[in-house]
Amino acid sequence: MTLEEEIIRLKEQHKALILAHNYTRPEIQNLADFVGDSLELARKAAECHAPVIVFCGVRFMAETAKILSPESIVLHPNPHSGCPMADMATPGEVATYRKAHPDTLVVAYVNTTAATKTEVDLCCTSGNAEKLIAGLPSSQKILFLPDANLGANLNGKLNRKMDLWPGCCPTHNKILPEHITAAKEKYPDALVLVHPECTPAVVALADRALSTGGMLKFVRESERKEFIIGTECGILHRMRKENPDKNFYPLEPAVLCPNMKKITVEDVLFALRDLSPRIELDDAMRQKAKTPIDRMLEVLP
Ligand code: SF4
Repeated sequence: MTLEEEIIRLKEQHKALILAHNYTRPEIQNLADFVGDSLELARKAAECHAPVIVFCGVRFMAETAKILSPESIVLHPNPHSGCPMADMATPGEVATYRKAHPDTLVVAYVNTTAATKTEVDLCCTSGNAEKLIAGLPSSQKILFLPDANLGANLNGKLNRKMDLWPGCCPTHNKILPEHITAAKEKYPDALVLVHPECTPAVVALADRALSTGGMLKFVRESERKEFIIGTECGILHRMRKENPDKNFYPLEPAVLCPNMKKITVEDVLFALRDLSPRIELDDAMRQKAKTPIDRMLEVLP
């Protein structure tokens, strides 16, 4: 029996669902029942009612699945797969800010730990941040955390002056304006799509700034045949699989998130065999962390 066949057998035995983020290794995406961005995965976790969810993505995403699907056993196959940006805003720091700014609404990118979500008012993802923030009164003071790049891009697009937490994604920060200039010269017919976690200088040079889910939709529906992709390179696997008649070029091949790549096929097999490691959250914390996610899903279900 191959590893993949054994995983399928165990998956059927436990009635498990494998969810994987667009940035995971190609072989993990091929194994998954559902591949998506953080918003799509959060929705899937909330509606799936599976007894066992194997979450292939970084820890905060698996925590979100547990928050939204508390009855499920949520397995995180490699507990060392964390998100450095999520760790840049601790609950204590956010609580201190709140105390000093009682009239400021705290909006958190979903890339935050469950503990930090207990200190925020509203969550958003890169796929819905623009609509959510545009819907808030212009007089409302807002702190956006933890991604200063995404926050600055939103401020520019929506003409707002949100306070920005000094965090960033180390992977997207590797993308530089000169990469776009060079790629456009090399592939003059291609459209440049970048993730809004890139710096405003990079976003300004791109043709579109889209979440990974938004990029996949855009390339599917576009009549164009060539695209330069400025985000974690794992997404190229799905783009090529879904659009065999189109060409995709990485803006910078070194844009790889080491944490997303930590989860291997062997990790998935062992997690399903042992039903471990599990995401366990204290119930009071889970309830508190759920409120800002529920607010997000209520506004944009
Ligand atoms: S790509 Fe960036 S934001 Fe996404 S998990 Fe990796 S470090 Fe975190």
